[in-house]
Amino acid sequence: MKISRFIYIIDNNNVWDAVSRRKIALSEEEINYIRKNKNKDVIECSLQKLIDLNILTTKEWEEQYIKKMIDETTDKQFQSLYLITTTNCNLDCDYCFYRSNNSKSLQNHQNMTFDVAKKSLDIFFDIVKDNVKNDDYWQQITFYGGEPLLNKELLKYAIPYAFNKFKDSDTNIVINTNLTLLDNEIINLFKTYNVEVQVSLDGKKDVHNMHRKDINGFGSFDIVMNNIKKLLENNIKVLPMITANNDNVNNFSETLNYIINELNLYEYAVNILITDSYGVNQKYSETLAYEMLKSYICYNNKAVDYVFEDLYNKIISKDARLAKSSCGVTRKITVFPDKKVYACQALEKYGSNYMGTIDSDFANNKNWEIWRKRNRFNNDECLDCEALTLCGGGCATGSLNGTGSIYGIDRNQCEYTRALVKKILK
Ligand code: SF4
Ligand code: SF4
Repeated sequence: MKISRFIYIIDNNNVWDAVSRRKIALSEEEINYIRKNKNKDVIECSLQKLIDLNILTTKEWEEQYIKKMIDETTDKQFQSLYLITTTNCNLDCDYCFYRSNNSKSLQNHQNMTFDVAKKSLDIFFDIVKDNVKNDDYWQQITFYGGEPLLNKELLKYAIPYAFNKFKDSDTNIVINTNLTLLDNEIINLFKTYNVEVQVSLDGKKDVHNMHRKDINGFGSFDIVMNNIKKLLENNIKVLPMITANNDNVNNFSETLNYIINELNLYEYAVNILITDSYGVNQKYSETLAYEMLKSYICYNNKAVDYVFEDLYNKIISKDARLAKSSCGVTRKITVFPDKKVYACQALEKYGSNYMGTIDSDFANNKNWEIWRKRNRFNNDECLDCEALTLCGGGCATGSLNGTGSIYGIDRNQCEYTRALVKKILK
């Protein structure tokens, strides 16, 4: 037998079991026994409680558990379609991931045609129609860019087409936009077809305008705020997408509180900068974790980033489910205007990210297997981490940027998760 590799000593009276996600109180004698024998392979033990609690286990049990978890956390079906409606953008945000070496989108100025969007939607419909739909199943079509509102002609036809095609399937239709180009026709389109509008908004005017500028260097804050309010007046669902950066992270809870109060919106999504896509200070992830917690508690858990809330509930054992992979690469199909299909929009230059064109059998391309192997239960550093079953494993682009491999650790996400776990457990 051996001490389970998933057991961590918290202090002289408690251990953390990363498998069952329980903080277990033990006697000093038991803790000392664990401390002394933690890395030994075969040990005799008379402390029955450690056996009963699965703190003492076997190598075989650990291997079987890992195998089972790899199977449970490997995506087996597509659920999401990203349509890159255009590779043009009217802003020039400094931390856009399309600026990275792994992307080439900013070099191609292309708009998607309705024919390409229609064919992609038809294929996606056929792919997902027989999906297994558990209680927490979701399905989503995202109109993405560049800036999608630059290709309004496409949206006018593709959004109604998607709505009518998928209306019986609980599919969420989303647009991801900088919202600087709104007009009444677009407002009506969003309203009629129940489109959720995800808008980049980085907090107060000074911080937002520092990063989200047009090509002449003018900040977009006033126009974006004004347009969000117009959407809200029309009862259109808006989700602010707030990027945490060096300039807002130290008082990020204030940033969140400002957005919540100013817009009277209690749902938002926080973007953690992709590792090495843009400079962050050494304490970035840890500071962000504490600030998120501060705001969540301040609003009595009523103002939420759902990804944060999901992690929080898992840490406090309110949610016993195993965390799914946080990277969408094996759940989503991303189609560019030139008909090319990728796993992720951020990595066009990364060879195995390319799956063929919509005219080919892209869903069965063998490259998907390369991405399906990216799993925290396949990574030794994750297997020795107290957050193993509650962490989604981060972003593959962040892993690639930081370690040169999609199988490596995504540092920004990883440090954020570990800081939060440590803080809450203590
Ligand atoms: S690699 Fe994964 S998490 Fe990162 S941007 Fe792509 S889909 Fe999203
Ligand atoms: S990515 Fe980091 S926090 Fe998540 S399981 Fe791996 S080592 Fe732990």
